[in-house]
Amino acid sequence: MAERTLFHRIRDKEIPATIVYEDDEVLAFKDIHPKAPTHLLFIAKKDSDFVPSIDDLTEQTAHVPGLLIRKAQAFAKAHGITGYQLKFHVGRDGGQEVFYLHLHFLSGQALNE
Ligand code: 5GP
Repeated sequence: MAERTLFHRIRDKEIPATIVYEDDEVLAFKDIHPKAPTHLLFIAKKDSDFVPSIDDLTEQTAHVPGLLIRKAQAFAKAHGITGYQLKFHVGRDGGQEVFYLHLHFLSGQALNE
């Protein structure tokens, strides 16, 4: 089995994070070093959906980026966020530090909680 990453430990609630959304498929939590008024990270929860990076996608995991984008879109609608950026950092040279695929969700609009 691949090495467990920081985000496995957040997913499994071994490390605290400010969780803003969770269902059976995804978890979204606040980035610890926010680069915008709202900066969230969306990850897929199922072990069968685990992939370290966009660079590692296979037939089996090709749906995961779409899943994360769809959940981010629904989250934005639910919170009245009308403008945002979605980003994947790919590989160390692309600024990726945590090798558990995650979607950055950034918005200049603050999250109304
Ligand atoms: P990457 O650079 O791999 O795309 O993004 C990893 C992100 O995880 C960074 O923006 C970083 O600020 C965030 N991060 C790193 N450690 C923690 C942590 O312990 N908790 C949370 N919530 N975010 C973290």
